[in-house]
Amino acid sequence: MSEANQIQSLKILVVDDDELMLDQVSLTLDKLGIDEVALMSNGADALAAVKNGGRFDVVFLDLNMPEMDGIEVMRKLAEYEYAGSVALFSAEDFRILKTAESLAGAHDLNILGTLSKPVTVNSVIDLFSRFNNHLPKQASKPVEKFTREQVLAAIEANQIQPYYQPKVRATDHKLVSAEVLARWIVPNGEIITPSAFIPVAEESGIIDRLTTALFEQAMTAFGQWLQSGLAFSLGFNISADNLDRVDFPEKLSNIASQYGVQPRQIELEVTESRLMENLTTCLDVLTRLRLKGFGLSIDDFGTGYSSMAQLNQVPFTELKIDRAFVQGARVDPAALAILEASVELAKKLDMTVVAEGVEDEFESEMVNRLGCDIIQGYFIARPMPAEDFERWARNHFKDN
Ligand code: C2E
Ligand code: CA
Ligand code: CA
Repeated sequence: MSEANQIQSLKILVVDDDELMLDQVSLTLDKLGIDEVALMSNGADALAAVKNGGRFDVVFLDLNMPEMDGIEVMRKLAEYEYAGSVALFSAEDFRILKTAESLAGAHDLNILGTLSKPVTVNSVIDLFSRFNNHLPKQASKPVEKFTREQVLAAIEANQIQPYYQPKVRATDHKLVSAEVLARWIVPNGEIITPSAFIPVAEESGIIDRLTTALFEQAMTAFGQWLQSGLAFSLGFNISADNLDRVDFPEKLSNIASQYGVQPRQIELEVTESRLMENLTTCLDVLTRLRLKGFGLSIDDFGTGYSSMAQLNQVPFTELKIDRAFVQGARVDPAALAILEASVELAKKLDMTVVAEGVEDEFESEMVNRLGCDIIQGYFIARPMPAEDFERWARNHFKDN
């Protein structure tokens, strides 16, 4: 296929709240002979189209939209495992654009580049040709999603298991905690990561069963480790959807106590963006979890725009800075600024600060210098099955 034909066969979705802009872009794409173009004036419609199986090769996305902004749209696209590319309309503010780009990178979205307004035929050709090698050969296939029944069967068969990733002190890399990360271990040996089944469990109302099953397994192992003299705490991810069950705090503390674990030895990690969508309903359960002694950690911080007032409403004990900012800070002054501001905010609210996604020595030293208390990432260790983690921890304490 010639390059022109390849461009002409692309399926494109344009999302912008400005109708004039939609008209203008559609006219431009039309001039290029691209005729499969969908125009949407808000993020919700665009996401519904993708979710309902709409196949697009490129989404042209405006960052600055009133109801749901482009950053939120990108986050959701990643959640739906959108496999095409994204092109961003460049905002007036270069820093926002840069941050959006690094965020997209962290979510494994493929950013084709940016287009400045008004969009011209040449700028579109330029965008496509610069990245010609990355052009999809055909419309991306809809991602294979597991069904509720498949996930449920996996839970019942104990195929969803905890992996453990060390969280270590930033100054001397001493183990302070381990984060539990769910893995679906298929009998054929395949290991499926959470993004393929957690959203299904959330949407189909079975996240409570998944959370409880995983928590039981984690407590079994953790209780034994504590008893054998290993000393660290455990980070455990909960979904915002777990927080509308009023008996959730009792349920968790009962399970923990069955295995000789105190709530204060556990940090419950909740993702910032999902939480802030439902803050009022979650607040009651969060507060009671804290009263029972659980630590509360706000996860992926920086991606959900909580205000200081909102943050202060929830008795968080820990703040985890999203890896987009940790990894972006080296090259991007805006990411660095967000990182610094997050550390300062956390300190003011008396929270422990964790830097996520630390992948090399440079990042490790940088976040330590900036005042992060704890680091987590491939630089220290990848998430491991229980036996491997236990070996890692024993070796670690022998040497420390
Ligand atoms: P998260 O809570 O932000 O977990 C950190 C993710 O970053 C994990 O991905 C981890 O494997 C990955 N990671 C750790 N260090 C590095 C690094 O240095 N570089 C890079 N690139 N990645 C790193 P994972 O295990 O795929 O989990 C993805 C998300 O799924 C988690 O993000 C969490 O939000 C969710 N999740 C995982 N387990 C559970 C669970 O049991 N319950 C709930 N509700 N959500 C879970
Ligand atoms: Ca987490
Ligand atoms: Ca995180």
